[in-house]
Amino acid sequence: MSQAAGNTGAVSRSLLSVFARLPAIGVERLGILASLFFSIACNYLFFSAALANRDWSHPASWLFAGAIFIAITALQSAGLFVVLNRWSAKPVLTVLFIVTAAATYYMNKYTVFFNTEMVRNILRTDVKEASELFSLNFCIHMFMYAALPILLVWKLRLKTIPLRRAIPVRLAYIVGAIVIAAGSILLVFQDFSSLMRNQKEVRFLIMPSNYLFSLTRVVAADTAQANVPKISISDDAKLGAAWGQRAKPMLFVLVVGETTRAANWGLNGYARQTTPELSKLDVVNFPHASSCGTNTEVSVPCMFSTYGRRNYDETKIRAHESLLHIIDHAGLKTIWRDNQAGCKGVCDGLEEQRLDSSKNAALCDGERCFDEILLDNMDGEIHKAQNGNLFVVLHMLGNHGPSYFRRYPAAMRSFTPTCDTSDLSKCSQQEIVNAYDNGVLYTDHFLAKTISYLKTQTTYDTAMLYLSDHGESLGEHGIYLHGLPYSIAPKEQTEIPMVMWLSQGFASSFGVDKDCLSKRSRNPVSQDNLFHSILGMLQIESKHYDKSMDLSAGCRA
Ligand SMILES: [Zn+2]
Repeated sequence: MSQAAGNTGAVSRSLLSVFARLPAIGVERLGILASLFFSIACNYLFFSAALANRDWSHPASWLFAGAIFIAITALQSAGLFVVLNRWSAKPVLTVLFIVTAAATYYMNKYTVFFNTEMVRNILRTDVKEASELFSLNFCIHMFMYAALPILLVWKLRLKTIPLRRAIPVRLAYIVGAIVIAAGSILLVFQDFSSLMRNQKEVRFLIMPSNYLFSLTRVVAADTAQANVPKISISDDAKLGAAWGQRAKPMLFVLVVGETTRAANWGLNGYARQTTPELSKLDVVNFPHASSCGTNTEVSVPCMFSTYGRRNYDETKIRAHESLLHIIDHAGLKTIWRDNQAGCKGVCDGLEEQRLDSSKNAALCDGERCFDEILLDNMDGEIHKAQNGNLFVVLHMLGNHGPSYFRRYPAAMRSFTPTCDTSDLSKCSQQEIVNAYDNGVLYTDHFLAKTISYLKTQTTYDTAMLYLSDHGESLGEHGIYLHGLPYSIAPKEQTEIPMVMWLSQGFASSFGVDKDCLSKRSRNPVSQDNLFHSILGMLQIESKHYDKSMDLSAGCRA
């Protein structure tokens, strides 16, 4: 045995002997210790947000810091007192340490707020997305914040006391903890209430209550909605009278992008030409477009709903049918083609094709596919439709991070050097932006290719509309990725590119004046306009159509 291995052996033996001499501990004390661990080791982001911009020469600041520290520790202890007992304590804490450590890692790294939207987004994340987040630093973090505390907990002996005595003792601890928490808050109530007024979202930084609370809400909502059919909004939908005079069937392609932000969009005047191909085409660009949410789980259902951001209600949006159901009911065939994580309920009951695990060697690496896979065998779909009308949604992988470098083929690697790892902290901001911009170049290429494909479909009147689901932070104000609560999200996460292309046949047969549309495109628009603009342009009649939200309304004959 080598010297080093011998030393390690001795160290671990002495560690074990320390553990062996640990006194037996009551479950309540264990709960308090665990809660202290969470407050001290896992809540850096919460405390730095809650205590930002304070004058530390003022005793009141120290009092406030102490009070919220005690309140949070006491409240989380109270929660632990409810769930921990001599049988459940070790397994429950094991799970809590693992999940909290992983969550803390990403929270600190990317400033993640664990509200219900974020938790839902994480639950719908596929294995492929999750695996891109692993790194050596993550493993070290997990060892320190999960493996070590778990080892310690399993080495502890728990005191056992008879149930008769245990119950009143436990109740006393719970009441005591709540009284201490309430007392501390009362002590600094004015300060505390102004924090809750001005920075309400900081509560979603409190580990581990944030994700436990949000997870409970998501599970409750999903259970309530499971297997409940969607509430119809489509029963009165029908094609307008103008459809009677159409010479050709219609082929409309709606491209829903991913994580592409307005600031890096060449057509919007970005310093770099990231849209060289689209800029040569006759497209209508909307430079001031905004998203409904800051993540896919919010934005995708929202943009296809009647509610939108202006009447945002997550439960109602999930409970009701979408724009696609109206289009389908009116008699146009819809197909959702996906290279990402599915249609998020938007296409329930309608045709959905998952292409993200395709076996196309030129476009797929066995894990992920480049977005051109979405155009694979479009001819076959068109053939199947037998000259009928088609409304196709292409759901891109786009600029999905943090592995921007994996989102474009080598030929699109124009801006260098690039960040070639998912661990963004290993790269300079310029390298991150370079990789991201190459991804934008690829989106530009994909959209141009879609348009040139549509141009070959001369038996159809064709059109394309592209918009991204949300933007992305690339290190501005130290923030990365996306998913911040909408109310505090920076504009990098909510400003999106949006582009429309109409064939001559489409524009003339649907009476759309492209020049008029180009003029209107300079005004601010949002994902809320999608629902009504599609219904308006396609001349579908529905009681849910709102002319004031239809971008084409003033531009149609
Ligand atoms: Zn997204």
